[in-house]
Amino acid sequence: MRPARVRIDLARLRANFQIICSDKPATLDFACVVKDNAYGHGAVAVARIALEFGARYLAVATTDEGLELRQNDIVAPVLVFGERTPAELEECVRHELTCFVNDVRTAKQLARLAEEQAKRVPVHVEVDTGLSRYGVRWTKALEVLEIIHAIPALQLQGLMSHFAMSDEQDKTFALEQLRRFQEVLAGLGESGIRVTLSHMCNSGGYLDLPQGHFNMVRMGILPLGVYPSQVCRRISGLQPVMSVTCEVAALQEIEAGDYVGYGMRYQAGERRRIAVLPLGYGDGFPRVRNAGSVLIRGKRAPVVGGNAMDAMMVDVTDIPETEVGDNVVVMGKDGEEEIDVHELARLKGSVSYDILAGWRSRLPRVYLNENSRS
Ligand SMILES: *Cc1c(COP(=O)(O)O)cnc(C)c1O
Repeated sequence: MRPARVRIDLARLRANFQIICSDKPATLDFACVVKDNAYGHGAVAVARIALEFGARYLAVATTDEGLELRQNDIVAPVLVFGERTPAELEECVRHELTCFVNDVRTAKQLARLAEEQAKRVPVHVEVDTGLSRYGVRWTKALEVLEIIHAIPALQLQGLMSHFAMSDEQDKTFALEQLRRFQEVLAGLGESGIRVTLSHMCNSGGYLDLPQGHFNMVRMGILPLGVYPSQVCRRISGLQPVMSVTCEVAALQEIEAGDYVGYGMRYQAGERRRIAVLPLGYGDGFPRVRNAGSVLIRGKRAPVVGGNAMDAMMVDVTDIPETEVGDNVVVMGKDGEEEIDVHELARLKGSVSYDILAGWRSRLPRVYLNENSRS
């Protein structure tokens, strides 16, 4: 009902996968990362389309996110990033969510749970090559890998690492991380241990570090049509899948000296026409004061005053045709003009990922072109 929404264009998602898959070497597998509700796009919808395009794995960050896929009848392999509690491990075994085991204790716990359910479960091991987040330190990885490999209830299926910085011009540290990962892989080879899937690249790595592709890459943001950074855009033609729109809810004619918004941050120097939009920082728009703009009738209307949780005001004096009910583009394109996710990220002092995933659930998701064919 709400005249404010997140629009997800599934034809664009398919077109992006098409472009990526024709760029990608045919033998290179990909995992589609659908954590955090596929960065706000809807995990199930994105996962289904990723599978149409041959995703080898889906990847999430929490057990609940994995269970959501299973509850929606997605039977494809699902990888759960990070560490799991013992209670989570049990659920993962039950629902065939593939876990990371990065230490011997977790490996033994998981093996016992697998045996209880009469299963042999695939596992991946994360090697920390310099992010200092999850994983076994590259210098200590081999001994842990050998132990895990010898546990009958576990099938050592994957070796993984994650870049600290893959989408900037300077690839020095990424290449050092890559060297550390290759060292572990070489050690495994010498021990006669084979893993089916070695994977290190996220979207940035996919685009810029082909020497780090191994046999699988993990892509989250790229199929969504957003480049990882301004300097990391090797393939062209990807289009954002998500846009955010609302409608003008009210108009105010204000006089010289009048204030707009909380905190009295804007005072009109002359007569102005103000459009009130039914969307605020409680929907995920950055908290701003006299900064940012939206598109109305293909033109930029600047935000005036401080925006509220549920509303914001924009100056439409220079767009005199504006009427209540007009379509407003908060993120996306309107004619020649565009408010892109990077612009909103600068406004928020954050990154594009945070803006995409930050649109709140109270904004309804509207899916467009659901049945477009791939
Ligand atoms: C989020 C995440 C990704 C996906 O990153 P993109 O830059 O969105 O492609 C890949 N791997 C891991 C471990 C992640 O946490």
